[in-house]
Amino acid sequence: MAVETLYVELGERTYPIVIGDGVMQQVAALVQDAGISPTSRLFVISDENVSPRYLQPLKQALETAGYRVADCVIPPGEQSKSLAVYEQVLTRAIEAGLDRKSAILALGGGVVGDLAGFVAATYMRGIAFVQVPTTLLAHDSSVGGKVGINHPLGKNLIGAFHQPRLVLYDTAALRTLPEREVAAGFAEVIKHGLIADASFVDWLEEHAASLWQLDAERVGRAIRRGCAIKAAIVSADETEQGQRALLNLGHTFGHAFEALCEYAVLNHGEAISIGMCLAAKVAERIGFAEAGVYARTKRLLHLFHLPTDWPDGLEPEAVLDVMKRDKKAVGGKLALVLPRAIGKVELVKDVDEQEILTAMKKEAGA
Ligand code: ADP
Ligand code: ZN
Repeated sequence: MAVETLYVELGERTYPIVIGDGVMQQVAALVQDAGISPTSRLFVISDENVSPRYLQPLKQALETAGYRVADCVIPPGEQSKSLAVYEQVLTRAIEAGLDRKSAILALGGGVVGDLAGFVAATYMRGIAFVQVPTTLLAHDSSVGGKVGINHPLGKNLIGAFHQPRLVLYDTAALRTLPEREVAAGFAEVIKHGLIADASFVDWLEEHAASLWQLDAERVGRAIRRGCAIKAAIVSADETEQGQRALLNLGHTFGHAFEALCEYAVLNHGEAISIGMCLAAKVAERIGFAEAGVYARTKRLLHLFHLPTDWPDGLEPEAVLDVMKRDKKAVGGKLALVLPRAIGKVELVKDVDEQEILTAMKKEAGA
């Protein structure tokens, strides 16, 4: 497949996302194009599932071009987005002799990207950062520059905005992803379609089977469109004043599910999948959305093997309580992103809580 490049337009911090099957082999030239010279020391951060497959080839490609490369491998999973692991990685970076001209490469999914980006944002007040995502879900976090770690009292409470210099997306690396992670990634792809592009939703429906099989050409296109939709929103609103809130479709519900399941039963993609269904349900109930949006949303998510049913054992009242404490709720008032139609959403600031509760109760079968 041809290599495709799209640019996230952010003035002087504009950066390319290069997408292609096998494109990791071109890492050295692309890193150099991003303004990181071979005299710079590089530091690759990866996790224990990804590193056995992709770390050596990546390092070799860079070393052949003259880069000196150190690495640090962390345990997989959300637990690694901790202050303790952050400190360990910083220690390794200092020991490896990284300086202000050095760059940090994140080789892995969202966890590695968030942690590595935060290390890059804070090491010597900020050094260059390159993302090499190996999950489909990470197409979402590769745009927007949000990096960070968790605090025992809450997720992503410690962080920064730090834009990468380059995102290098090798679709070949996705083929070793567990199916559940593939589905979770498609949840964010679908979200981007539901927010802004009805014809992209048509296309996802039409090609669901080959996308699910990770057909390189089509997955590349899906990543590209997903990134482009997010990039357009982020470019217009880099620090989250207005439009960027639309990216939260399904997330106010989803975050509450994740928190109440203690981040164990549902992963992020699954939680927002159910959340997007609920948003459509509420929107139809209050006459905000045209009829049929809920049914089509649900069908689309099923095509990508995503759950849409109310999570077992959760109380709608408890979910509502957590939603009201969401970082994005202002003064305890719930603002929800709701669909008007497929491909069109709006932030609604004064949804009646009773309507939300009733919709949830109906879904919970209570
Ligand atoms: P995300 O938030 O993007 O889903 P994570 O970093 O939580 O990312 O990754 C999800 C899981 O998939 C982790 O266990 C990770 O080690 C694993 N993983 C990431 N990329 C790959 C890959 N290309 N092949 C196999 N496993 C992978
Ligand atoms: Zn998300």
